[in-house]
Amino acid sequence: MTTVKQLFSLQELDLALDAIQSQKSQAEEELNARLELEQMETALAEEQGRLSETQESHQSFRQDADELRERVPGLEERIYSGDVTTAREMASAELEAGHVRKQLDDMEMRMLELTVAADNSRSRITSLESELEITRVGWEVRQAELTQQVEQLSSKEDTIQVQREELAATVDQQELQKYDILRKRKGGTAVAKVERGLCQACRMSLPTQHLQRVRTGRQMVLCSSCGRMLWPG
Ligand SMILES: [Zn+2]
Repeated sequence: MTTVKQLFSLQELDLALDAIQSQKSQAEEELNARLELEQMETALAEEQGRLSETQESHQSFRQDADELRERVPGLEERIYSGDVTTAREMASAELEAGHVRKQLDDMEMRMLELTVAADNSRSRITSLESELEITRVGWEVRQAELTQQVEQLSSKEDTIQVQREELAATVDQQELQKYDILRKRKGGTAVAKVERGLCQACRMSLPTQHLQRVRTGRQMVLCSSCGRMLWPG
């Protein structure tokens, strides 16, 4: 005959398995996450992208400015050579030269801004790289810890699983089914201890008659309040 004591022992193994499985999935979740590291890798890649855009932009301003600068001697020659005779032509040559100089000044200013932006990007990249390196080393240590933890939990799980199977084989299959269903419905506890006349799962006091039947242990008695199997302990 299956005794409630057997089911209570089975439940202790099942609760231990539940705890192990929850610890294991937590560790596995953390192993899969790599979250912090990924965020830093993304930030670094973005900053590197910004730096090359800044550098390309600077390069293109440099080329435009060089081309524009080549026009300056020609313009100045026209103004100072004496070839330009009318006031209108002179005014237009001076206007053009002034315009080119203004454009060159603007470009120099823009290039200076880009140089500053590139310097800032470079220093952010350097600090991100060193932060990433520190985080990566930390992660590798944590990863090793977690992997070891998962291995230990798995081997503990296997041992308890074997004990559970051995014990379950000695239990009446119908009782076992009832136990399994009850455990699922009752948040993992199918068998409740009785102490000082109280069901320890729902904390309700049990009628005297009920208590006597639990104590004799001849039959399965369910808690009148929560419906769990009662074990006198
Ligand atoms: Zn109860």
